[in-house]
Amino acid sequence: MNAPSNALLGPVQIRDLAGRLGVRPTKTLGQNFVHDAGTVRKIVRSAGLEAGQHVVEVGPGLGSLTFGLLEAGMTVVAVEIDPVLAEQLPLTLADRAPEWSDRLTVVLQDALTVTELPGPAPTALVANLPYNVAVPVLLTFLERFDSLDRVLVMVQAEVADRLAAPPGNRTYGIPSVKAAWYATARRTSTIGRNVFWPVPNVDSALVLLERRAHPQTRATRERVFEVVDAAFAQRRKMLRGALAELAGSAAAAAQALEAAGVDPTTRGEQLTVDDFARIAEALDDQAGTAPDETTGTTLDETAGTAQDEPDVTEPDGTVTAERGSTSPAGTTPLVRPGTARP
Ligand code: SAM
Repeated sequence: MNAPSNALLGPVQIRDLAGRLGVRPTKTLGQNFVHDAGTVRKIVRSAGLEAGQHVVEVGPGLGSLTFGLLEAGMTVVAVEIDPVLAEQLPLTLADRAPEWSDRLTVVLQDALTVTELPGPAPTALVANLPYNVAVPVLLTFLERFDSLDRVLVMVQAEVADRLAAPPGNRTYGIPSVKAAWYATARRTSTIGRNVFWPVPNVDSALVLLERRAHPQTRATRERVFEVVDAAFAQRRKMLRGALAELAGSAAAAAQALEAAGVDPTTRGEQLTVDDFARIAEALDDQAGTAPDETTGTTLDETAGTAQDEPDVTEPDGTVTAERGSTSPAGTTPLVRPGTARP
């Protein structure tokens, strides 16, 4: 890692930049900017990266975390939906640390619509995610960019709990199982509210995800996720009831569950992602539709991840999407190399 610099943004710089740009942070876009260099360095440290790595950041905002990543020697592609922020970022960098400018590329786009990124494939995603689309963005990136083997995200604390929860835990749910398809997840630390402007009314936490091989199964990923969605849509029901519609009847569901070695009277919250994969396979076998191979990774499958947003507001009500509701429509992609110098 490189030596600390004076380029990171503090409260004065954040206030000054926002004032000059006329930025009024919106809840819809989850705009809460970090103004504490210590927190930024902690996030970068927690990611466990090596200088020179190619990192993708979602939602760079005014650049707080971006500058921390650049300071640590990373090459960064930053995807930002807000055109004012996306256009300003290379200028701020040119002003504060021009020597880092050739290591930043800003893409003006809705992260949920990104299918390719400029430059070498990123090996890490590091982001202070917009909270209302945090889970869909995370799952979409893990799905679309298999070069990502490490992810460190700051999310709403309850979402962090969900992502990292093991089966049987009170907070175990759809995000936990789907994230487990791709990676192991660990909550690393809590971040106080006072490092943000504006101050949010929820706590935040860091989650570290490390890529692992997905479960060995003949079922496609879409099919497995369909079973997960059905199991948790009625999470208080026994699985044979919750999966009755998918299987055609409760009896057929019970049969498939038994074939998968799962007790039909158990509930989804007790099952691992491997259990769900076996159930999906058994349902496919029953329907005679099992594909030959364990492929099941097409790009459009990530479209389904937008449906993950309701995950955050499941009936047990432990988590609510704090800021705004849906992601805005995609904007025209514009790749803006951050090489401009004053
Ligand atoms: N990284 C900055 C920081 O730590 O101060 C800002 C983080 S702020 C919580 C979230 C950022 O994500 C905002 O800049 C917002 O405009 C951006 N954003 C919101 N929705 C987005 C989306 N769908 N795609 C890309 N960026 C998005």
